[in-house]
Amino acid sequence: MIFVVAEHKDNKLRPITSELLVFGQRVARDFGEPITAVILGSSTGDLAGELKTRKIDRVLRAEHAGLAEYNPDTYVQVLQSILNKDKPFLVLMGHTTQGMDFAPRLAVRLCGPLISGCVEYEKQGERLILTRQIFNAKMNMKTLVRGEPPYFATASPGAFPGDEVESGGNAEVIVFPVQLTGTPKRKILNRVEAPKGQTDLSSAPIIVSGGRGLKQKENFNLIFELAEAIGGSVGASRPVVDAEWLPREYQVGSSGQTVSPRLYIAVGISGAIQHLVGMQTSRCIVAINKDPEAPIFKVAHYGIVDDLFKVVPALTKIFKDLRQA
Ligand SMILES: Cc1cc2nc3c(=O)[nH]c(=O)nc-3n(C[C@H](O)[C@H](O)[C@H](O)COP(=O)(O)OP(=O)(O)OC[C@H]3O[C@@H](n4cnc5c(N)ncnc54)[C@H](O)[C@@H]3O)c2cc1C
Repeated sequence: MIFVVAEHKDNKLRPITSELLVFGQRVARDFGEPITAVILGSSTGDLAGELKTRKIDRVLRAEHAGLAEYNPDTYVQVLQSILNKDKPFLVLMGHTTQGMDFAPRLAVRLCGPLISGCVEYEKQGERLILTRQIFNAKMNMKTLVRGEPPYFATASPGAFPGDEVESGGNAEVIVFPVQLTGTPKRKILNRVEAPKGQTDLSSAPIIVSGGRGLKQKENFNLIFELAEAIGGSVGASRPVVDAEWLPREYQVGSSGQTVSPRLYIAVGISGAIQHLVGMQTSRCIVAINKDPEAPIFKVAHYGIVDDLFKVVPALTKIFKDLRQA
């Protein structure tokens, strides 16, 4: 049995959930294992209804008032009792803030190996091999999973195409009886939302990012205008943040956010490795840079070699016109 631990926020499934389902469906096809999606929360009826339409075998709803807010202690306690009842082959979780928090604790409790930040997998004979990126994503490492299952893995956001999740299922939904014992050691004191007008970049489907090529803070309006015209969020390289043109939440890269949108437009960004590791798993990368040798073009799917002050307003106009048409 393959277990996929669904992530959700504000009564919506997060994009990583579909990506994990794709990962699970591919492994299931190769290893002939059924899939169970697990959802923890306090009123997850609608979300379980959405999950059951995916091509999976079962949805387990763990419902309890104490699961209304994510907490690693309650999550581990409930998942441990679920997994103890079945014989899991593989447990898939997101390599997200949440997954990175509870996955190691869960794997330790169930004495299984955890392969974190997976981007691919393969089957060699009957053996499961998981690929993860190491050294700031400069190298891939293949890990042969040994020993008896259960195996645990977290998947990097964007590594599996969530829009390829197979639907058309009618999985059975089972409510798992939750009993929480003890008081969680950790308490959520406060949830700090991203500043108004800015979405969480890690789940934004379209990002327009600007770099030092914009020359000065005032010119960043060009980026905001293009982002608005295509319905995207704004990101930035580190020098932009260091120069205080934008707050730290906007920074993409090794010391900022890791993003994996469907479309990433890099404007006046050279493509230093510290920036690339934060965005190179984006589905489609468009780079606008006047230097044809800029390293960003090595990861870009489309490149425009020209002056951004000419290209960006022209693109904004095209998208605005398209929206009005
Ligand atoms: C420990 C560490 C952590 C770091 N973490 C991060 C991080 O998280 N994120 C990050 O981004 N960086 C990070 N950096 C910094 C990183 O090394 C680079 O310095 C940085 O990414 C460069 O930003 P940039 O591309 O905006 O600027 P530059 O490298 O200066 O590039 C500007 C680009 O704009 C182009 N350009 C200029 N004018 C125009 C024009 N008119 N039209 C079109 N193109 C134009 C230039 O050709 C150039 O390619 C980190 C560095 C270290 C040491």
